[in-house]
Amino acid sequence: MQALTPERLHEIMADTGATLDECRRLVAQITQRGRDVLSGVRNVRAGVRDETARRVAVGALKVLTRQASAEDPFVKFALECHDGAVIETVRIPLEKPGRFVVCVSSQVGCAMGCAFCATGEMGLSRNLEAWEIIEQIRIVARELAATKAGRVHGVVFQGMGEPLHNLDNVLTALEVIRDPCGLAIDARNVTLCTVGLVPGIDRLTALAPRARLAISVTSARAALRRRLVPMEGHHPIAEVIAAAKRYHSQTGRLVMLAYAMLGGVNTDDEEAEALARLLDGWPARLSLIEWNPVPGQPWRRPTDDERQRFHDALGRLGVPVVRRYSGGKDIGAACGQLASETRQPERSARRRASWMLEETE
Ligand code: SF4
Repeated sequence: MQALTPERLHEIMADTGATLDECRRLVAQITQRGRDVLSGVRNVRAGVRDETARRVAVGALKVLTRQASAEDPFVKFALECHDGAVIETVRIPLEKPGRFVVCVSSQVGCAMGCAFCATGEMGLSRNLEAWEIIEQIRIVARELAATKAGRVHGVVFQGMGEPLHNLDNVLTALEVIRDPCGLAIDARNVTLCTVGLVPGIDRLTALAPRARLAISVTSARAALRRRLVPMEGHHPIAEVIAAAKRYHSQTGRLVMLAYAMLGGVNTDDEEAEALARLLDGWPARLSLIEWNPVPGQPWRRPTDDERQRFHDALGRLGVPVVRRYSGGKDIGAACGQLASETRQPERSARRRASWMLEETE
């Protein structure tokens, strides 16, 4: 299966004499409307069209379930891959009517093992191919178009998996996402959220500087963070923030810092002070997300009082804070919450999706 850009199709068709312009028309048709309707493409020679149909295999994901939240306009899709693996994708509404963000998965499971995340309990089954990432967005976009409900405005890699652990395929998917003949989504509206794979952050900075970077911080204290985010043992948070600063200085784009609040664990004054020291006046926003219950995990949500005290302490210390709404709780699409009811080939399909309506406090 291929994740097609016009340039890639041009390479595939090099011996046929297909022009780049013909490839652009074909890729737009395949990506935006599906391969089955190639006969409708204008200004492409019949021989080139037929040969494209023979050479290009376009895969599909099967929609197993579609669950719409009764509490907010979040929709979660469970999608089956060709090997029986199940991934999840969340359609997230933006405040502006008719605009949506697609929260995509980049892997089946995840190798990072974060202690507060349901996906982390699965381990990693495999990376998703670039076309499987694209297909998640296409499924949501097709439904929005068919129901005239709006359009996909952005993409966030915050579903199953660590996107920088599958960076080659994510970068290929990014090409198709932003290509005017592909999904035609502005790369500035694409966010990659990582626990802090420093070489991946530097590679992303060099190769896809328009994409937005988000870091999952969880704690600024090394011993606590190592317990919650094992990657801390390989790339300490200070090194991760240093890489994020390089991204910021080279791209001019603000970095988003996601912070999952675990009641009684990482919401005290000591943590606020450690965060202030870590950021040291750097203009990055800290997005506070309340942990949502995952069966069997020992954490709890912060109380309103805890949350407010943490928020106030950060404010006093000059750390810019944004509160993030975590939607779709009733359908198990909220941040850190969930265990998919669908089975993976070998493991229970557990994962998290996330958030997104922002309210600045
Ligand atoms: S929080 Fe992200 S990186 Fe950590 S285990 Fe979950 S999916 Fe993987």
